[in-house]
Amino acid sequence: VNKQVLFKQDPGAGWVETSHMEVVDRPLNVQLKQGEVLLKNLYLSVDPYMRGRMNTAAKSYSAPFTIGQPLTGGGISEVVESQRDGYAKGDLISSHIGWEQYTVVPAQQPIQKIVNPLNVPLSYFLGILGMPGATAYHGLLDIGEPKEGETVFVSGAAGAVGLVVGQIAKIKGCRVVGSAGTDEKVEQLVSTFGYDAAFNYKTVASQHDKLKELCPKGIDVYFDNVGGETLETVLSFMNTHGRLVECGMISQYNAEKPYGIKNLMLVVGRQLKIQGFIISSQLASKDFVTRFVGDMTKWIKEGKLSYTETITDGLENAPQAFVDMLKGANTGKQIIKIA
Ligand code: NDP
Repeated sequence: VNKQVLFKQDPGAGWVETSHMEVVDRPLNVQLKQGEVLLKNLYLSVDPYMRGRMNTAAKSYSAPFTIGQPLTGGGISEVVESQRDGYAKGDLISSHIGWEQYTVVPAQQPIQKIVNPLNVPLSYFLGILGMPGATAYHGLLDIGEPKEGETVFVSGAAGAVGLVVGQIAKIKGCRVVGSAGTDEKVEQLVSTFGYDAAFNYKTVASQHDKLKELCPKGIDVYFDNVGGETLETVLSFMNTHGRLVECGMISQYNAEKPYGIKNLMLVVGRQLKIQGFIISSQLASKDFVTRFVGDMTKWIKEGKLSYTETITDGLENAPQAFVDMLKGANTGKQIIKIA
């Protein structure tokens, strides 16, 4: 059998619930055609952007999921059987897979063999050495362009992307401040992940007063993972010629109605640069991937970058883990371990 997590119902606006997904056992009968590969899936990546793919009518950069079909996302797998040249049983693969135990990869879909010279956990290829790591690296360095001595503020700082952003900003000689949703996360940001200061945005009396205290010289680079009220508050602290890296706006993904930013005019007077990006276009560039893997491998080896994950066991627990991640249950990368 092939256990799968199906997309059952469009949640519309508001919170996604586990009932919008369904775990089923389906028979597995595989006759591979030329070019196809049968994968046994080991780890799944649980990502915020998947929430957007559950809105079937919305126009988004990523196609919506299909009702009655498995959710899909990044994953690490082992080749069980191959009809594709260059791939053999036992190869470890990073690719886009279904939320299921076994996936048949179509002939035209590219897959990536994992190269692991540092012998890091395989799930790191879904985190620090995978899509979220690349998001942090590209967003901060290519869009944020941090300079030594500048102040970088990161929201969603204790997540898969945020943990990496802060550490790279430290490597570049910046003062780094972050916000996250629990005291434990805040403590870890400072004790383990090199943040100079951090605060709990849920319990702080005023984000404005806290930013004033922790960023006395203002903010030069804002790496935005959350949007909404935090973005509005940060705008008033941006220094002239500051850069806003619009990576994500998770506070809006399950919101009944969007938050209206009221002080965008500051972008003009302070001559701010504000830029969004979608990392998949970078990941398609061989030059980018070489640069990213080269620098990250070096920094991990030098002990300048560390990472953490929240690993949930079993595909049957994946729907709950997805909902919980959106509510902040994870520290670092949220992973599902299947096998
Ligand atoms: P995380 O590991 O950071 O997990 C999501 C976290 O968001 C939760 O743990 C929670 O932590 C926080 N969160 C949830 N709701 C809110 C809220 N209302 N306000 C503030 N924080 C909230 O996920 P990722 O690191 O994978 O992704 C981080 C961001 O980056 C997301 O916005 C995502 O969409 C974006 N992204 C963008 C990409 C791109 O190509 N542009 C690629 C990958 C990710 P807490 O306890 O702190 O609330």
